Amino acid sequence: MNQFSYIRVNQQQAAVDAIRKDKAAMFIAGGTNLTDLMKRGIVSPERLIDINRLPLKEIKAEKNFIRIGALALNSVVAENSLIQKRLPLLVQALNSGASAQIRNMATVGGNMLQRTRCHYFYDTALPCNKRQPGSGCGALEGFNRMHAIFGFSDKCIAVHPSDMSVALMALDATVLVTGPKGERRIPFSDFHRLPGDRPETDTNLQPGELILAVDIPDAPFAQYAHYLKVRERASYAFALVSVAAALHIEKNVIREARLAMGGVAHKPWRLTEAEKYLAGKAVSETNFTEAAKIAMQGAKAFKHNAFKLKLGPNSIVQALKTASKLS
Ligand code: SF4
Repeated sequence: MNQFSYIRVNQQQAAVDAIRKDKAAMFIAGGTNLTDLMKRGIVSPERLIDINRLPLKEIKAEKNFIRIGALALNSVVAENSLIQKRLPLLVQALNSGASAQIRNMATVGGNMLQRTRCHYFYDTALPCNKRQPGSGCGALEGFNRMHAIFGFSDKCIAVHPSDMSVALMALDATVLVTGPKGERRIPFSDFHRLPGDRPETDTNLQPGELILAVDIPDAPFAQYAHYLKVRERASYAFALVSVAAALHIEKNVIREARLAMGGVAHKPWRLTEAEKYLAGKAVSETNFTEAAKIAMQGAKAFKHNAFKLKLGPNSIVQALKTASKLS
């Protein structure tokens, strides 16, 4: 691991100023992914700016939304009574990610920024355009069981690993950030990006920007919501496929549906067409099956992940059935 210097900041502006002055610096909060990346030589910041003392841990209800501070710990968010009552989908997604020990360290902002778990990315002896632009993509013709079926490019077929982000995508969250040009808000659907020709860039954050909070608008999804995660083993594994389903149901009719998938693309994958199909439909397995068919349009598999073309729609149907209490 490279040598690096370390500073601790107490104020938001000091954090922004510190990173603006030093292009080779990185913010660190929980460090659950960053320290791994540093130890393996995948990233080598010359300075770490510890932001843990910034006042960004609060969870509170505002007029039309709930705000979660970027430094709120995953475990604290999942155990918060307001979140449990109004955003059970988020609680389920948080509790399905990582071990309790990691959830006790990992922050909401860091969860969103975690890097892919593609094994070629983590092995510095192998080619990877995300780690070293222009070196090639080892997974494209290699072992690609965990990889994308939507939105990939010929430069990268990796998937985003966060469960929490799949729920935030379905819940239409907004990310509040600050940086050298001041504060701005980023719709969650624009926060992460597809790989295109620049797989080394995971998000649309600008250089030096700091995540302050995530805002989740009020919506009537608390009663009918489910996060389904399908993985190789029962715990401490990343999703092969996951589905966040949130429904507003009245008298057995779906007034509004929200659906997003994880484990299938470089970013949480929103199923907008399936949502449109479900609006106004009755709660029924037939309608859920049709929605899943619509959701999977355009999916394309690689050598080792063709199973996702079946697992994907089956998972959507099961998530919708559980969310709607059909089974
Ligand atoms: Fe690297 Fe992406 Fe290819 Fe994995 S899929 S080897 S992260 S370029």
